[in-house]
Amino acid sequence: MIALPRRFVIGGAVAALVASLFSGSPTLAHGPDPLIGTTPWGFDQVVGYQWMTGATPPSWMATAIDAGAHDIGSSKNSRAATFTRVSTSDSQIAYGGAVPCSSYGIACMNRTGVPDSFNGMWFRPYGWAFDWGTLRWCQGQTTPTTGCYDAENVALDEFGHIEMLGHHVNLDDESDFQDAVVQFAARSKPKAGWDEHVLGRCDVARLQLEYALESSGDKVSTCLSLATSLSVIASSTTIDAGSSVRITGTLKVAVASAARSLSGDPLSGRTITLQRRLPGATSWSTFGTLAGNSTAGSYGLTLTPSTTYDYRLVFTAPSGEGLLGATSSTVRVAVISCPTAPTRDLIRQAPCL
Ligand SMILES: [Zn+2]
Repeated sequence: MIALPRRFVIGGAVAALVASLFSGSPTLAHGPDPLIGTTPWGFDQVVGYQWMTGATPPSWMATAIDAGAHDIGSSKNSRAATFTRVSTSDSQIAYGGAVPCSSYGIACMNRTGVPDSFNGMWFRPYGWAFDWGTLRWCQGQTTPTTGCYDAENVALDEFGHIEMLGHHVNLDDESDFQDAVVQFAARSKPKAGWDEHVLGRCDVARLQLEYALESSGDKVSTCLSLATSLSVIASSTTIDAGSSVRITGTLKVAVASAARSLSGDPLSGRTITLQRRLPGATSWSTFGTLAGNSTAGSYGLTLTPSTTYDYRLVFTAPSGEGLLGATSSTVRVAVISCPTAPTRDLIRQAPCL
């Protein structure tokens, strides 16, 4: 058996077990990262951290850790917390010193204290002797050598844990390794993903589930497969010939406990098409595309139909994000052809009066 260097979490196995009990469903390979812990940060919370006294990293390591914190902010695609170094904070990060990581861990963290602070994050020092060999951080080398570990990538993993991400559950062949940076075993140079500095789609999926989208127009991670709901309403269901009617629809993530923070959230900037058919007809034809309204998730189209039609809206699942398609219910807009005066006065049809 080959001992793998691992980025580990203090109490990680227990926390992961608790999380799976809470969620009530097993964590699936190729799915969003599991949860670690039960307490999230606030939406958009800015979390400061400082170096632990007596365990300040050398400048090359400080740069890498700060870069890892920045990487979270630039790739979280959600309202998850951001991390920034400040002069004084209860949240502290250490390099060397008394490192409480497991004997095979190259780095670890403890998110106790969230949402006020996190208990700590620790990195083993360059040259640390493990049973599998000597730890080399790539950033500590003039020319990174085969087998070194990218400190920025490892810091990104640790900040991911601080957010609430557990280690991604990979497929048996690990063909989906690069769907997540938050991984049980780090990869050393030059294995695929060793220097990844952007959260993977399944890291982002979990962050979106826990912290929602930054904006209703943001794309939902393709690591998710969320149902959507699409409503339809007509400004009037009976109109005079020659009059216009406005068809309005609202697209949302379908309300479901599995969608967590995203449940019922509006989705803007998507393509919603209007279909129509004559009453009694079986097939629909596409009439047009709705434009976005100012209200998030709302779309509309104004038309002047010449005769009575049934209408419905369709959201076709886009290939670039993790949403399922939806079709609205049907609404009929009756068009009344009004007779001209003086016959009009004899026919008491409301739209004609
Ligand atoms: Zn980890």
